[in-house]
Amino acid sequence: MRPTTVFVDRDGVVNRKQPEGQYVNSLSEFEFLPGSAEALAGFTDLGIKVVVVTNQQGVAKGVTDEKMLAQIHSHLNAEVEAAGGRISQIRVCNHLAGSCACRKPDIGLFEQARSLDPEIDFRESAVIGDSETDIEAAHRIGARAVLVTGQAGAAVRPDGTNEVADLSAALNLLTEPDVV
Ligand SMILES: [Mg+2]
Ligand SMILES: [Zn+2]
Repeated sequence: MRPTTVFVDRDGVVNRKQPEGQYVNSLSEFEFLPGSAEALAGFTDLGIKVVVVTNQQGVAKGVTDEKMLAQIHSHLNAEVEAAGGRISQIRVCNHLAGSCACRKPDIGLFEQARSLDPEIDFRESAVIGDSETDIEAAHRIGARAVLVTGQAGAAVRPDGTNEVADLSAALNLLTEPDVV
């Protein structure tokens, strides 16, 4: 079934991920992955709500400036709108690991999004991420899980998680006609 909401991780899905332990701290470090803005617009076209959910503990570590993060997210919104799409919400965990209830795989960001928008139904949602923490969060909210691998090819894991190359492939997968 086609989801009514997609929860989309940011780094490694929408934009190029920084090396482990580093963060996107400036607009110049925010680089869209090929086709990602268009894929987000593809969800919008089909009436699927897009919510970005992202862990940014660089803020708590003092290495990511909160005002810059807001600018980066304005840029993200603007570029997706330029591609014809719309991001409904961007929910950020800016806390240190182990200090909150919203850092994925915890589900606080998802609950925040739903409390702001009661139309969101976790059971009709999909989570698209490039980390096991995204997949774990998907399981916890009872949503479909899609792992972006960055590698060509697609697979289905025993737990039902779909593996796809990128966000465009996730769009195709989630919006293909149901097989009867
Ligand atoms: Mg990620
Ligand atoms: Zn948090």
